[in-house]
Amino acid sequence: MHMDRAPRAPYADVKRIGIPRALLYYRYGIAWQAFFEHLGLEVVLDAPSDRLTLETGDHLSVDECCLASKLFLGHVLALVERGVDAVFVPSIMGYGRFETFCTKFQALPDLTVNAFAVAGKRVRVVSVRIDERGDESEEQAFIGLGQRFGASRKEAKRAWRAAVAAQRAYDGAMAHEQEALVKSIAKLPEADRPLTILVAAHPYVSHDPFVGGVVEDALREQGACVLFADETDRARSLKRSYDFSHSIPWMVNRELIGSILALHEVIDGIVLMSAYPCGPDSMCDDAIERCIKGKPILTLTVDAQAGTAGVETRVESFVDILSYQKKGGYLNA
Ligand code: SF4
Repeated sequence: MHMDRAPRAPYADVKRIGIPRALLYYRYGIAWQAFFEHLGLEVVLDAPSDRLTLETGDHLSVDECCLASKLFLGHVLALVERGVDAVFVPSIMGYGRFETFCTKFQALPDLTVNAFAVAGKRVRVVSVRIDERGDESEEQAFIGLGQRFGASRKEAKRAWRAAVAAQRAYDGAMAHEQEALVKSIAKLPEADRPLTILVAAHPYVSHDPFVGGVVEDALREQGACVLFADETDRARSLKRSYDFSHSIPWMVNRELIGSILALHEVIDGIVLMSAYPCGPDSMCDDAIERCIKGKPILTLTVDAQAGTAGVETRVESFVDILSYQKKGGYLNA
C-alpha cells in the first residue's frame, strides 16, 4: 500500500527567513537570528514598529487581539511584502508549571496563518513548538527544527549552542550594564541621586520604539534615570517573584514582579505599561498596585485606537510630582 510520507526536510527550500520585530523577538531574537545564520540562512528583519505597522496589523486582526499581537501581524506583513521565503513564528508554551507564556504565544502560528487567510493573503510559516512541560527540551525542539531545514543533527546542535551563547552574552551584558548603573546611583549621596524610574512591562512593550520608546524618551527628556524590569538578571528575578506569589503562572510577569522587588530600594517610582487588552497584565498589574507599597506607580495602557497619544503628558506629570516629592514636597517648596 502506498503511503504519503511527510518530507524529512520540508524547509530545505527556505533560504531567506523573516523574523518579525515584535513579541518574543525582544526576548529571544538574538538566539533565533544566530540559529538561522548558523544554518546558513539569510535572516531578514523588518523595520521597527511605526504607525503603519499598527494600522496594517490592526486591519489583519480580530478586535480581541492585544495591541502587541496586532503589531506582530503588521511586522509579518512587512516581511511578506519584502519577499522572504518564510516567516519564523514559534509556538511557545513554557518551561514549567509556573513558567508558562500567555496563550497568544501558543496559538501564534495558527493565529498568523488564519489572519492572513481571512484577509485573502498568503504567508508561509516556519514554526517550532517549545513546551518543556512535556518530554522534549527546547534544545531538542530546535535541533529538530534545524533538521527540517536539511541540517544534520550535529549541525543543528552546533547552531543551537551558538544561538544560546549569543543570547546569553547579550542578556548578561544588558543585566550587567543595568546593575552597574544601579550600584553607581546607590553610591551617590541621597541629595545627588537622580530621579530613578523603573519601567515594568513585557519587553515587546517597553522596547518597541512605537510603544515603550515614547515613554522612555519622555522620561529621559524630563531628566529621569530609566531602569527596565526586564533588564535585571532574569533567573534572580524569577526566583524573587516567589516572595510575592506562588501561583502566578506567567513567567515574564513573574520576572517583572521579581525585578520590582529587587530594585524597590533604589527606585523613586514605577511605570507599569501594558498593551490592551492583556489578560496576564490585567491580573498581575492589579496585584502589583495593591500589594507593592511605598513607591508611586503610573499605570499606562496602550491600545490600538489611541496608541501613545497623551502618554507624554502623563509621564511629564508623574515625573513632576515625583521630583517635587523628592525635594521635600509642598512644605519645602
Ligand atoms: S501577554 Fe498580554 S500583551 Fe503579551 S501577547 Fe499575551 S495578551 Fe498580548
